Parts: sequence; C-alpha cells; structure tokens
Amino acid sequence: MTAQPKSIRELSCADDYDPNSMPVDKAREFIRAFLQPVGGTERVAIRAALGRVLAEDVISPFNVPAHDNSAMDGYAVRFDDLEADGGTTLKVAGTAFAGKQFSGRAGAGECVRIMTGAVVPEGTDTIVMQEHVTVEGDRVRIGAGHRRGQNLRRAGEDLAAGQAAVLKGKVVRPAELGLIASLGIGEVTVHRRVRVAFFSTGDELVSIGTVAAEGQIYDSNRYTLHGMLTRLGCEVIDMGVVRDDPALLEQAFKDASAMADVVISSGGVSVGEADFIKDLLNKLGEVLFWKIAMKPGRPLAYGKIAGAHFFGLPGNPVSVMVTFYQFVTDALRILQGETGVAPIPTFKALCASKLKKAPGRTEFQRAVLYRSDDGRLAVRVTGDQGSGILRSMSDANCFIILPTDQGNVEPGAEVEVQLMDGLV
Ligand code: AMP
Ligand code: MG
Repeated sequence: MTAQPKSIRELSCADDYDPNSMPVDKAREFIRAFLQPVGGTERVAIRAALGRVLAEDVISPFNVPAHDNSAMDGYAVRFDDLEADGGTTLKVAGTAFAGKQFSGRAGAGECVRIMTGAVVPEGTDTIVMQEHVTVEGDRVRIGAGHRRGQNLRRAGEDLAAGQAAVLKGKVVRPAELGLIASLGIGEVTVHRRVRVAFFSTGDELVSIGTVAAEGQIYDSNRYTLHGMLTRLGCEVIDMGVVRDDPALLEQAFKDASAMADVVISSGGVSVGEADFIKDLLNKLGEVLFWKIAMKPGRPLAYGKIAGAHFFGLPGNPVSVMVTFYQFVTDALRILQGETGVAPIPTFKALCASKLKKAPGRTEFQRAVLYRSDDGRLAVRVTGDQGSGILRSMSDANCFIILPTDQGNVEPGAEVEVQLMDGLV
C-alpha cells in the first residue's frame, strides 16, 4: 500500500479499489491499515497469562545463570596447574553439588569433584569432564589438551540482570511461562482481551435444543466462531441468532458495536437478501469492501461501525472458517497487541488429486498433508469441496491455495499448501 489511509472514505478513492471483487492479498493489506492494538492492560498471575500478549517487557531481575557453574559432571581445576603437554595429578579437595556448593577454596595442586549445574568453586576456572580423568584414590590423573574456561557456563551468559527476557508484544506460550518462572517472576502485565460480539443471521436457523422443522437448519457458525475466537484468547459475546429483519439487525449491530471491539456477523452479506444489510451498514458505519475474489468466501465485508471493527462473514459454514482464518485471525492478533504478526506461512507439496479450478479467484481447498510412499510431502483434497460441507474441514489438516490465475490442476503438480494452525 502506498500510504496509510486515514479513513475508509479516503481509501475508497484509490484507483485499484473495487469493493465487489477485492483480491485476497489486497483485502488483507487494506484491513491491516485500519488495525491498532486495543488499549488497556491487566496484571495476571503467570499461569493465567498463557495465550495472552505481554504488554510490558519481562526484565530479568538477576544474572542467568546467577553464578559461574559447571556444564558437565567432572572436576573443577586451576588451569595453570595443568601440564601443557603431559599428564597432571591433582588432589581432590571435596565435592560441589548442584544446590550445595563446595565451601572451601581449591589451592594449588587441588581440584574439586563437580556435578553439572554446581557453582564453580573459588580458585578453579576450568572443568575437566569425568570421562577424561583417571581416579587414583583421592587423586585424579588428567591428560593434556584442555582449554582454560572449558565446560563452564558463565554468570549472566543467558541473560544479564536488567536485560529483557521476553519482549512486549509476544504471546505467552509454554516456553515463555517457563522462562518467566525461571526468573522468579509470578505476575506479568498483559494486554486486555479483545472483546468480540458475534451473531448469526438467517430466518432458517434454529438453535440446539429446538427441533428443526422442515427447511430449518441448526446454527453451526456460532459454534465454530466460539471455538476459533476462544482459541485466540478473545473475550466472546455470543448474541445468538438474529432474524433477517432490518429493525432487528440494526439493533443487533448497534448493541454489538456498543459493547465490543470487534463485531462479527455471519450470513446475509451476499446479494439479494443482503441489500438491506448493505444499506444498514452504510447508515451505521463505513464498509471498506463487500466481496473478495476468493472461493469459498466470496461475500466478505469489512468495515467500521461506531469505532468497532466489523467483519461480515459469509453464511456457509466452511466459508466462515476459511474467511476467519485468512482475515480475522491476524486482525485479532494485531488488535490483541501482538507484534511481528506475519502472514500464515505456505509451502509446496505434490498434489495427489485432480483439482477443478476456474481462473479468476483464489481458491482454498481443504486437504490432508501426508508423506507419500516415496517420502515426499503430498496433499489430497478431502472429498466434496462444497462450502456447506463442514466434514471437509473436519477431515482436513491444511488448505491447498490455488492462485487467482490458476486453472485445473493435474495429479503430480506442485501446489501451495498452508497448515490449519488451531483450526482443526
Ligand atoms: P447466506 O449468506 O445468509 O445466504 O447463507 C448462505 C448459506 O449458509 C445458506 O444455505 C444458509 O442456510 C447457510 N447458513 C447461514 N448461516 C448459517 C449458520 N449460522 N449455520 C449454518 N448454516 C448457515
Ligand atoms: Mg441468510
């Protein structure tokens, strides 16, 4: 993008802007230009920080390791005692254990038996591995070929006191939990959770617990959305099903934008029944685009309503998951304060299936990545790719991404693949 747009209105004046057929990459770029982390932080106990984004650097209060210590089981020696080109015999003055240091001082001609992690005794400066010595009673015989300071971990080698151990903007994962705990820190400051209000639209939808009459279907989108949002660490506000009624929809959009940072609706943004949604959203806020040149997920709206970000997802259950993964996931991560959010990586694999594809749209086919008999990475599609068939998501572990200009794909061709991280 050339310059940061100030408003959707300003952006919509750009030459290449077509709100009814936005290319996937362009849509991603446009959305990104409007994202700023939501404000607000909270202090939480470290276990509760799992999955949250750090709002402050975690500073090491001390050197890590705190003392010079041994990287091996062996003998702590004074390097100057060792004969450069012959063997040396040293007296063992005692033992240093991890957590129980040798209290004395090693004098000339003395060494100390030392365990991995034990503090290096005063007077010594080098560790000789136990495999490289011969024990003779209370003495050890050490051969030539050692280096001053070998097999030592220096105080502050991993982290100096005052240095940032984990930078703000990082998601706390199990590795960070351990790292923070290793510093003796019990609480951290994290960004507050992003509040996401969502609802399904459609006269045909019924909720679980009701018997579905002829022509009615169970609302599944609120469940996949609940799952995807919860995995991302959002605070979810499930507003239920809203009928295809302009007054009810208007109220739902108003209520949602008043209480949440992000509003997500599913269904009803395609042409036809959607015309009133379009009018409504143009009245309540600004919409950047309505349709994306992709399959599944062509109807996808993004805009702002009263300060909240708005994603109008398609109604079809597979389209909901695909558009969420391709656009909403990264947006939420940025809103949550995460830094360095990079596009979901892709890689190449051999396609074992024949794929039908018409040029003109980016396609995301559901597939299984596996190791073929000749040891290569291969993918095959998960059966019928209809955008209402959630089974094709449930059976999949990746997407095959077919670029806009691509036509049909023959078995044996290379295709671009993207793992479904956290989706399935
Ligand atoms: P729409 O975009 O509203 O025209 O919906 C497209 C298709 O998705 C229709 O077949 C709907 O019945 C279906 N659909 C819409 N919303 C949901 C939902 N929440 N759960 C399951 N299917 C849905
Ligand atoms: Mg509908």
